Amino acid sequence: MNAIIFGAPGSGKGTYASRLKSKLGVDVIAMGDIFRENLKEGTPLGKKVKGYVEKGLLVPDDIVIDVLKQHLNKVPKGKGFILDGYPRTIEQAETFEGIAKIDVILLQMVPDWIIIERLSSRRICNNCGAVYNLRFLKPKVDGICDKCGGSLYQRSDDTPEVIKRRLQVYQEQTSPLLQHYKEKKVPFIVSSIKGLDTPPETVVETMIKELKKLNLA
Ligand SMILES: [Zn+2]
Repeated sequence: MNAIIFGAPGSGKGTYASRLKSKLGVDVIAMGDIFRENLKEGTPLGKKVKGYVEKGLLVPDDIVIDVLKQHLNKVPKGKGFILDGYPRTIEQAETFEGIAKIDVILLQMVPDWIIIERLSSRRICNNCGAVYNLRFLKPKVDGICDKCGGSLYQRSDDTPEVIKRRLQVYQEQTSPLLQHYKEKKVPFIVSSIKGLDTPPETVVETMIKELKKLNLA
């Protein structure tokens, strides 16, 4: 299964993708995480994308496509992938059509108020990258990662002003892309999240059922 997962920042798509990864054995290629790791480590790539990522803006195409190709080359043959954070433009979508076939679009529909609530309480491990939420997915010890004991931090772009800008960028960028894939007749699996307390397991189980109907799981 080659999938693209769409969802606003804070829609939970990262969580869903990583659960699908462990349940279905697909690779997840999350562009945002790749850029953030490089930023954190101060690699040459990190230095190139710093300004864009911090402002919630799009990283230029030529940089993104190089990074994406490097990661796609690491996906073993026969193993599928979930792309997260790519494509962001029609041009990128068209470029990608020359690289790999997309079997399904996984679309998360989450109201803005839920996103703002979730993002402002999100915390991330500075050692292993595990994601917590002070409301729904609390670490056992305050400020400490359950998995590795690392300390938790709040991302600099998880502030209300930047969140609003990111939501706006997301809407503007995504609607034409969804239209594009509809026209290409790529099947959609839409998860509508209506409450703050919808457990990720429920969302992921429903997605897998739908994937089975499409013979993709
Ligand atoms: Zn950790």
